[in-house]
Amino acid sequence: MSAQQPSASNTTRRYQLFIGGQWVEAESGRTFASVNPATGETLAEVAEADAPDIDKAVQAARRAFEGKWSKVSARDRGRLLYKLAQLVESRAKELAELETMDNGKPIREALYVDLPEVIEHFEYFAGMATKIEGETIPVPGRMFNYTLREPLGVCGAIIPWNYPLVMAAWKLAPALAAGNTVVLKPAEQTPVTALELGKLIQEAGFPEGVVNIVPGFGERAGAALASHPGVDKIAFTGSTEVGKKIARAAAENLTKVSLELGGKAPNIIFADADMEQAVNGALMGIFFNQGQVCTAGSRIFLDERIKDEFLARFRERAEQIRIGDPLDKQTQMGPQVSEEQLNKVKYYVAVARQEGATLVTGGEPPALSGPLAHGYFFRPTIFTDVKNEMRVAQEEIFGPVAAVITFKDEDELIQQANQTIYGLSAGIWTRDVTRAHRLAREIRAGVIWINTYNIFNAASPFGGYKQSGYGREMGKHAIELYTQVKSVWIDLSGRPMGWYNR
Ligand code: NAP
Ligand code: MG
Repeated sequence: MSAQQPSASNTTRRYQLFIGGQWVEAESGRTFASVNPATGETLAEVAEADAPDIDKAVQAARRAFEGKWSKVSARDRGRLLYKLAQLVESRAKELAELETMDNGKPIREALYVDLPEVIEHFEYFAGMATKIEGETIPVPGRMFNYTLREPLGVCGAIIPWNYPLVMAAWKLAPALAAGNTVVLKPAEQTPVTALELGKLIQEAGFPEGVVNIVPGFGERAGAALASHPGVDKIAFTGSTEVGKKIARAAAENLTKVSLELGGKAPNIIFADADMEQAVNGALMGIFFNQGQVCTAGSRIFLDERIKDEFLARFRERAEQIRIGDPLDKQTQMGPQVSEEQLNKVKYYVAVARQEGATLVTGGEPPALSGPLAHGYFFRPTIFTDVKNEMRVAQEEIFGPVAAVITFKDEDELIQQANQTIYGLSAGIWTRDVTRAHRLAREIRAGVIWINTYNIFNAASPFGGYKQSGYGREMGKHAIELYTQVKSVWIDLSGRPMGWYNR
């Protein structure tokens, strides 16, 4: 990274808040720094929203919802979303580089996974705008009853740092397709690409105030948004701990809430699995995006009969993962998003050791030189001899730490795999089709991947069981999160109602 550093990372970028179609300073005048986690250098100085800015943004969103936006047809909402998809596509490379510099993820992930997913999302929901329909209900008597599916109003969106632009798209696309307006609070670690998206939203021609982007800290800006009485719905993605705070804050005004929270997914490998596929799937499960994935396959349940062979191959491949400058296309693993996150990973490695788990590989930062020596890197880490009750198997680490638990018997396996407060996703590796479908039913999680892992599509519902949250994003299910149903009755008889006859 040293001499050939791209110029963008040498100059500090500056961003204001995007409220009511204007770029403005925070009322307090405060700013905060967004850091490049590969080097520890400041990437951007960003205006810091607090309660007064959130209030302004909610009011702007309300005016837009009741004003111009309510007059825009479904077709035109779709066209705006499609235009936005095209603008993102035209700037995909630059946005991917910024995402990599703000978050630390390898450029090949930002460019070939994150950006295509963002574009796909805006395209999919562009098409959805004209397919949001009510129903006709066959009620008895000479009555006509139908439903209207209407937007909720002002939606507050609070998102995490692991997929900054993807998370913004997951929230914005269905909310806007359904005719809502949005106040979006990005994560403090990664506000840059959401703000860049704000510029494209302007360029696409969305009326002012339809989208407002207000970066700031969770305890201030986030909390102000979640508890604002002018917000009709809060869509949150983040930790289970903060999700509970959001639900409590929203309860005060009975604001509708959807929550996409943490996970501790079982990635289950049977002895009859294709070994190469399973090893690859385990790597994808726990090391993709530095392990900072809510669906991370962090509990690897391994059939005891293949323990030695699998672990040898898993270890070898984990040690081959190329750690380094995330802007280098060859890099397969970048830094953790922040020093705080790095410390959390180190802490859990110490916990796992104390609990008696055996370290197979990793467990420490790699030796890097130059500017990267100040980055928050950590080696791919595997623990074996883990018991499902251990903290390393129960608590979400959100880093590149795999906990391997062996099993003998399917019933015991299912019972253990389900023994967690989470239920976001699970992986199953087997060539036995009957067993695959049997387990797909038995595992209590919102997404099941069979002989694959971490696959998403805008058309396919995503969300958690248990404390992994409620509500389903993506696909037509997402529209349910951003609309409400109105039932309309008309008497077709033309006669007075029969109850109070003279
Ligand atoms: P987090 O700490 O829960 O933060 C998420 C967002 O909430 C951030 O914007 C944060 O602001 C804000 N926030 C924090 N405290 C708040 C409060 N009291 N009131 C309102 N907002 C508040 O999560 P994270 O560390 O960014 O992300 C990691 C977590 O997200 C993991 O648990 C992961 O599993 C989960 N996740 C889930 C999914 C999913 O779809 N299920 C996807 C990705 C991530 P700050 O930035 O200032 O903290
Ligand atoms: Mg950053």
